[in-house]
Amino acid sequence: MSPRFDQLKTEILNCHRCNLSQTRNHVIFGEGNPKAEIFIIGEGPGKVEDLQGRPFVGPSGQLLDKILAACGFTREKHVFISNIVKCRPPNNRTPAIEETQACLPWLHEQIELINPKIIILLGATALKNMAGNNYRITRDHGQWLNLCNRLAMPVYHPSALLRDPRLKRPTWEDCKKIVRKYQQMIDSGHYSPFIKEE
Ligand code: SF4
Repeated sequence: MSPRFDQLKTEILNCHRCNLSQTRNHVIFGEGNPKAEIFIIGEGPGKVEDLQGRPFVGPSGQLLDKILAACGFTREKHVFISNIVKCRPPNNRTPAIEETQACLPWLHEQIELINPKIIILLGATALKNMAGNNYRITRDHGQWLNLCNRLAMPVYHPSALLRDPRLKRPTWEDCKKIVRKYQQMIDSGHYSPFIKEE
């Protein structure tokens, strides 16, 4: 890890740039491989994440782990996971614009330092804040975008899959595109048994 990465972590963990600092239990910096080729962006911490201080550890996170495993990816090796806002919005509401504007510079610096080739945008909040308000997750999931000079793929947020299991099939199709791109760009030997069998 670079010294700046450690310094950035300290700065984020002590951040009070927006009102979410007043109601949080933990700032969720993110976790994974700081040299990962895939950067996953969610919306914000939920109740379990706020209590534990880790991203995606509630029901959505457990589903995300299953999806990553099916792709042959692990949190430790292949990805770094963070959010649009790093403190929990009360009652899991969508982050307000002043909160996302305050927090996004942290995320952009994380992306620059980790320098991934692929960004995965989980859900509408990640998509709109990173790509623009004209994008729609229902229309644009599964399409490659150019973001920060990197390839970015919007997919449905795991919480949406928990609410509506019919979204699992299109999400799996989107994930297959990500795995194939990973095999093309990063590791031709990357193994995902579920995808090779289809
Ligand atoms: S949400 Fe982001 S900007 Fe707001 S206090 Fe937390 S780390 Fe700082």
